[in-house]
Amino acid sequence: MSTTLTDTLQHWINNAAYSAPERTGKIYNPATGNVTRTVQLASKETTEVAIAAATAAFPKWRDTSLARRTAIMFNFRQLLVERKGELAAIITAEHGKVLDDALGEVARGLEVVELACNAPYLLKGDYSQNASTGVDVQSLRQPVGVSAIISPFNFPAMVPLWFFPVAIASGNTVVLKPSEKDPSAAIWLAQLFAEAGLPEGVLNVVHGDKESVDTLLTDPRVNSISFVGSTPIAQYVYSTGTAHGKRVQAFGGAKNHMLVLPDADLELAADMAVNAGFGAAGERCMAISVVVALDSIADELVDKIAQRAKGLRVGDGTRGCDMGPLITGEHKAKVAGYIDAGITAGAELVVDGRTGTVDAQGEGFFLHPTLFDKVGTDMSIYTDEIFGPVLSVVRVESFNEGIELINASPYGNGTAIFTNDGGAARRFEDEIQVGMVGVNVPIPVPVGYHSFGGWKASLFGDQHAYGPEGFKFFTRNKVVTKRWLDPSHGGINLGFPQND
Ligand code: NAD
Repeated sequence: MSTTLTDTLQHWINNAAYSAPERTGKIYNPATGNVTRTVQLASKETTEVAIAAATAAFPKWRDTSLARRTAIMFNFRQLLVERKGELAAIITAEHGKVLDDALGEVARGLEVVELACNAPYLLKGDYSQNASTGVDVQSLRQPVGVSAIISPFNFPAMVPLWFFPVAIASGNTVVLKPSEKDPSAAIWLAQLFAEAGLPEGVLNVVHGDKESVDTLLTDPRVNSISFVGSTPIAQYVYSTGTAHGKRVQAFGGAKNHMLVLPDADLELAADMAVNAGFGAAGERCMAISVVVALDSIADELVDKIAQRAKGLRVGDGTRGCDMGPLITGEHKAKVAGYIDAGITAGAELVVDGRTGTVDAQGEGFFLHPTLFDKVGTDMSIYTDEIFGPVLSVVRVESFNEGIELINASPYGNGTAIFTNDGGAARRFEDEIQVGMVGVNVPIPVPVGYHSFGGWKASLFGDQHAYGPEGFKFFTRNKVVTKRWLDPSHGGINLGFPQND
């Protein structure tokens, strides 16, 4: 078996392509603006075929030994290491991010596969011998069942990889619905996992939009939902899924701030603001979109960021450029609209990304890095998640004002502080109302063996992705209290059990 991507991308059910050409969507190469493939969009009925496959595969997979499950996971990891270049090329061709960045995405996804190779260790339960006289108590974690994963366009490989290796290693079966904008990476991964020996029905992929998501949210055979996307859809997914009795983790949007104190290394801070603000054209949920600068260093910092932003090479991600295009023409127009709105609102446009030279062929969806200074917190460029290469600088007079500003944001995904003052950093770590915090690190995405997740409007549900919390999400705790035949038992006693 090998991985093949057809011109019309089909679903993947029971380790085989499944065709249901009810409706189709277009997939673009955002660097050229050309349509490169079409993708079938699943109806309710097609989604139900995938759910049925996962439901049928569950009992056998749940009972498959940890040794066997882990062996398949190791094979998958090996194949992914050997062929990561192929996957990165698919990501660049459909998302537009530059090849190095796509390879970085694959590497971060691989971390979770490696974590899942440790499943036997991580799924070990607890045991208390003689909790009461002659009574032992055991806690064990069992898979939840059919797990649905609904992912966004901005990390077409990494976000699915945050979830399905952990779900599958824990004994669940999966229906993955990737973004319909760049779905090929998910199909490629599912084909690779089949090549690694994953049995039929354990990982199924349906392409689609709201119709297939709604089916996953309401079908009684689906036990858990892992969603990643914008905040309004995350809220909808969380409320609908939980109302239908499912365990739900719904990761939403973000507006990440980077606070720069006067004692920070400003060269480092400027480099990091550019990397984190404009990497992947700002289409990262952990992108820095607001630099909060103390007044005393703001002029110098803005100047350093502007010089760097102007020097970035924009173009096709296969040509060694720094920054690629946006995902669609529609999204490019939306981001450009925010630049217009920032100017109208009175922010100072320091670097204008609406024009510039591009190293690409065709009519790709490009914008250049844009930098605004003196941004007000009532402006839409500050309040809204733009999800593009638009960096805002908000000036504050004090450290306290910076902390208050960040804590007032409705989002709480990531944040960073740049300083050489350990005491200030320690206070920031403690008081900031954000789930993932960097100290002189601009994109603090936790490593695979910690867990990823924001606070407030960036996550609905209480379990984060991968790491120890990922294993908790995909398993249910069961506690067994047991006593073996013991001639000294006390006979009938209607009182509540007490331990002695
Ligand atoms: P999106 O919300 O448009 O789509 C996400 C998923 O939801 C896709 O699979 C899509 O098909 C589906 N969907 C879209 N509209 C729907 C509807 N009306 N009903 C049901 N399902 C629907 O998000 P996107 O544009 O693909 O991705 C970008 C967003 O994802 C940004 O807001 C970004 O911050 C967020 N994101 C968050 C994290 C995180 O960890 N918090 C990580 C990555 C991306």
